[in-house]
Order: sequence, then C-alpha cells, then structure tokens
Amino acid sequence: MTNETWGQVRNILRSEVGQNNYRTWIEPLEFAQVEEGVATFLVPTNFIGNWVERNFGDKILRQMIALGARVSRLSFVVPQTPRAVDAADAAEPAGAAHVSAKAQSEPAELPGAPLDPRLTFDSFVVGKPNQLAYAAARRVAEGGPVTFNPLFLYGGVGLGKTHLMHAIAHEMQARRPDLRVVYLSAEQFMYRFVQALREKQMMDFKHMFRSVDVLMVDDVQFIAGKDSTQEEFFHTFNALVDQNKQIILSADRAPGEIKDLEDRIKSRLQSGLVVDLHPTDYELRLGILQAKVARYREQYPELVIADDVLEFIAHRINTNVRVLEGALMRLFAFASLVGQEISLEKAQDALSDILRASDRKVTVEEIQRKVAEHFNIRMSDMIGPKRQRSIARPRQVAMYLAKAMTTRSLPDIGRRFGGRDHTTVMHGVRRIDELKVSDAQLAEDIEILRRALEE
Ligand code: ADP
Ligand code: MG
Repeated sequence: MTNETWGQVRNILRSEVGQNNYRTWIEPLEFAQVEEGVATFLVPTNFIGNWVERNFGDKILRQMIALGARVSRLSFVVPQTPRAVDAADAAEPAGAAHVSAKAQSEPAELPGAPLDPRLTFDSFVVGKPNQLAYAAARRVAEGGPVTFNPLFLYGGVGLGKTHLMHAIAHEMQARRPDLRVVYLSAEQFMYRFVQALREKQMMDFKHMFRSVDVLMVDDVQFIAGKDSTQEEFFHTFNALVDQNKQIILSADRAPGEIKDLEDRIKSRLQSGLVVDLHPTDYELRLGILQAKVARYREQYPELVIADDVLEFIAHRINTNVRVLEGALMRLFAFASLVGQEISLEKAQDALSDILRASDRKVTVEEIQRKVAEHFNIRMSDMIGPKRQRSIARPRQVAMYLAKAMTTRSLPDIGRRFGGRDHTTVMHGVRRIDELKVSDAQLAEDIEILRRALEE
C-alpha cells in the first residue's frame, strides 16, 4: 500500500465517520508502512491509537482491503521522538490496542454478531428517560418464565437500544451458558437470508434460526419494505414464539409507526411488551459523562477533565448519547495531547464544531428560503397564494421540513406560510410523507435539504 492509497482510504473514511470523528481520530494518523500484512500507523498518543483501533479499526481495514492493499491487521505506534524516527525502530505498541470485541464472539455455527464487552448493564446509566426500558431489559435478562414476548425496545438514535440488547445478551449468557443467545441486526438477518436463498440453503437457514433459545434483532425498522425478508422474519418469529423462546427486538420507532411493514407483523411486534427510551435529560447526560470519565480514568489516570466541563457538555449537547460520548472522547484525545487538565475554556475551544452543530435551531424561515432556492421558486411564492403544482409542491416540502425540524406547532407553521390553516399544513406534511415513498427523487431532495439545514 502506498501513501496515495491511504489518501483514498482517508477520503472514504471522511464520509463514513463524519467530519467530527474524522478530524479528531483519522486525520492525526500517519501511515508508515505495510509489512507482512501489518499496516502500521504513527499516532500522537496511546489513547488515540487505542481508540482508533477499537472504534475505527474494522472500517480502516475494510477500506484498505477494498482498495487492494494486502493487509490483515493494523498496528498503531507512538513514535518515541515525535515523527522523527523511523516507525519500525521506534515501535512501541499502543498498549491494549489488540483487545478487540471480536474475542467474545459467538461459537461459529450461530448466526449472531459479536457482542461488545463494554455494553453491559453495569455500564448502562439509568435515569428517568430510560428506567422503564432498563427495568424491562433486566427482567428479561434474568430469564425465568417468558413473560414478555417479544420485548420491543424503541427510541431515537443513540439512546441506548443496542447497549441494552448487548447487556441482555451478556447477562443471559452469564446466567445460562447453555442457552443459545443470538444477537444480530435486522440488516444481518436479511443478509443471511439472501445468502441462504442464493446458495440454496434455506433449510439450513430455517433450522439455524429456529434452534436458538433467545433471538435478538436490532433495528428491525430496516426490514420495512423488504417483502421476502419480512416474510421470513415473520415465520422465524412465530416459530420461536410457539416454542416459548424469548425474542427481543429494537427499532427507531414504535411498531405501529414503522411504514411498509405488514400489519400482521406489526401486531405481532406489539403483542409483547413495548417500551421506549426517551430523549435524555440533563441529569442522565451528566450521569453518563461521569460514569464514562470514571471508567477512562481507571485506564488513563493522567487524563483530567474539570467538573464544570462535564456540566457544560451535559447542558449543551442534547439527546444523543453517541454525540455526547464523541465530545468526551475528543476531550480525552485533546488531554492526552496537551498533557494537562482540560479547562472549560479549552473544552469550548476543542468542541466548537460539535457545539455549534447541536446548538443549531433551524427556523421556519430558513427552511422556506433553502427550499425555495433548491426548487428555484421565489420566496414570495413560497408564502403566497399560488396553487400550481410547481409551487405548491415545494411549499409542502417546506411545511414537511418545518414540522420535522422545528418544534413549531401546525397552526404556528401555517401562520408562517402566509396565514394558512393548520389543516393545510397537516395535509401538506402527509402528502410529502406519502410521496417520499414512491418518488425517489423527492426523497433525495428532502435528504439534501435536511442535511443542508442541519449544517
Ligand atoms: P442506539 O442503539 O439506541 O442508537 P446505542 O445503544 O448504540 O444507541 O448507544 C450509543 C452510545 O451511547 C453507546 O456507546 C452506548 O454505550 C452509549 N449509551 C447510550 N445510553 C447509555 C446509558 N444510559 N448509559 C451509558 N451509555 C449509554
Ligand atoms: Mg443501535
């Protein structure tokens, strides 16, 4: 592999991991060499090396291989004299970098995905917004008679669904090592299914999934609209329920709200216990930050982050725990670089882009302007009375985005569209919701606009 290949890999990674992660974790990597299948990178600190290996190692490896590099492993090395010395000689392996989640993977014949050893009940911080989900998860994990089947966890991105599922799996596996507990994403389920079809191994597939004791499928909204996968999932589901086997599912929304999912499946999904994870509140966020700091300081006692910094982050970054973690990890990376306590001022500086992104409150007017610009209509037409489709459609898109991206009520939005009635707004929102499904171009327009507005 050459530096040029690494340049390409970096570009792909940039879009895969997002600009924030890219800047903090990928940019500081300096490609050194590939020798005997091991790609070596120079990293500024051990903390950064470990973090990259753990969180982005698979992605990096996959992209390198996709671009033809003959690599089977990554190694992250902190140069002794920064950057000056040849990597191979100065090599000091980056600590515990090779303890990967893979070590805990399921026995080969089970179709599940590996469990992340960090995602346990112990490391899950409980607060008001997630206490019900936590209690239900604990209850199911204790085994015993199957009372809720399925357990259906739902909630927005980064609120802890996957974490709870892994925690349940760990707990069950610990209590009952004989149980065949399988955790996988709905996407992996589909992949397995399609593969079995292609290789004419449906019997094996069916047998495999019907022989598990506990089936956990993450992000089931993914199978919406995928008819034959749905069908197969439904049969697997029924077969397991009939045998009184526990099923645990997650999705980003309630069963009834998953579009393009057959009604009989929806009602099956609702037939057990449905619990949701609410957006985090300040106390929960602070609790999560404190817990994570405590954990990281066990490993890196030299990294110090002032208390008011945590309060500040908990206050300013709302809802998504993943973003919260990202911010904290950036501060740790920063602390490991500067070798001193991170003050509030430094934190604000280091996190300015993340803070700006979560600060951003889009206004209805901004939405109208962006949409008008995108569809090439005038702002006066956007809020004016004209009803021809070339104007009415963009107007509906703007209403739709206003509903989705602001906290304004329908009447309030109506007022901002030249004093329209709230039923008009509701109609517009529904119309776009329907059209999005059949009109790929429209769906894409909306995604582009949404992204532009989120920036
Ligand atoms: P989801 O699957 O709902 O999108 P995840 O379970 O992947 O979210 O959570 C995102 C990140 O936030 C994970 O690293 C997870 O460990 C962490 N996280 C979420 N909720 C909590 C919590 N209550 N306590 C500790 N960590 C949490
Ligand atoms: Mg998840």
